[in-house]
Amino acid sequence: MMSFDYFDPRTLDQATGLLRAAGGKASLLAGGTDLLVQMKEHARRPEQVIDLKKIPGLDDFAYDAKRGLVLGALVTTRQVETSPVTLRHYAGLAKASTDFASIQVRHRATVVGNVCRASPSADTLPPLIADGAVLRIHGSAGQRRCAVQDFCTGPGRTTLAPDEIVTHIEIPPPPPRTGKAYIKHGRRAQMELATVGVAVRLTLADDGRVADLGIVLAAVAPTPLHAIQAEAALRGQRPTADRLAAAAQAASAEARPIGDVRGSADYRREMVRVLTRRALEQAIQQATHDAEARA
Ligand SMILES: Cc1cc2nc3c(=O)[nH]c(=O)nc-3n(C[C@H](O)[C@H](O)[C@H](O)COP(=O)(O)OP(=O)(O)OC[C@H]3O[C@@H](n4cnc5c(N)ncnc54)[C@H](O)[C@@H]3O)c2cc1C
Repeated sequence: MMSFDYFDPRTLDQATGLLRAAGGKASLLAGGTDLLVQMKEHARRPEQVIDLKKIPGLDDFAYDAKRGLVLGALVTTRQVETSPVTLRHYAGLAKASTDFASIQVRHRATVVGNVCRASPSADTLPPLIADGAVLRIHGSAGQRRCAVQDFCTGPGRTTLAPDEIVTHIEIPPPPPRTGKAYIKHGRRAQMELATVGVAVRLTLADDGRVADLGIVLAAVAPTPLHAIQAEAALRGQRPTADRLAAAAQAASAEARPIGDVRGSADYRREMVRVLTRRALEQAIQQATHDAEARA
């Protein structure tokens, strides 16, 4: 491991001041499960490491039925995996946080760190995008908000300026009769990055048609992919077997995978088709159950 200066600021303004002064040569540290591995492998050589853990408020974890869920930058995947709130209202994100690394890693890895890493195979990005999540960002120039959907610009690249910090994720509350699913496919069950990931959020109307939905794919494009054609195939329609099959086929056609050690491009496309249909069925089942529970 190379040498670096370590800082543990007590406020966001101190942290952004340190980032600004470092002129792009500092890295933020949350759980460290990406950053420290990259530093050990010399893939990253920050001159300064700025630890976020002593900044108050970044451990916020709050749910309100009107405003939804707010997750601070220090909330771990283990917290999301085990919280009754996420299990009940954000099942896709909870599943993505469960099928993630090992329990030791999940106790340290933050959801915001996973978002900021901007890996094409990041597990929390598809459900966050399907849920319409928005980031709160703090920088020297003030605060801004950015939809998670618009945040990643390429593998490992985001819209963050060098002096900006993501402080929170806001996720809207689900309307009644909503179901969610995330299915991760890898070569083994644990400690594996996704070969393909599919997140679905789906709301049923009173008459059983699909009122709204989001379908987002992981590991089949440089950034998480919103399957817009697949969504259009179902929106406003009754979710019959034929229409689910058509939506799954559309998602497969929209995927832009590469072939690599985890699977060929053709295999990934086929898995998108299979898993999109399966995730849609799971979300519909959950939405139907939610409608019955409210009746
Ligand atoms: C053994 C192992 C298994 C893994 N398995 C998976 C897996 O199954 N699925 C998966 O998606 N990932 C996996 N990962 C990757 C990693 O665990 C996740 O990406 C994790 O969520 C990163 O969070 P962190 O808090 O550890 O981030 P850190 O390593 O602290 O930071 C990650 C990056 O985000 C930046 N950053 C962190 N917080 C902020 C912030 N608030 N504002 C701006 N930038 C910030 C850091 O500077 C760094 O560039 C695995 C990693 C390991 C080592």
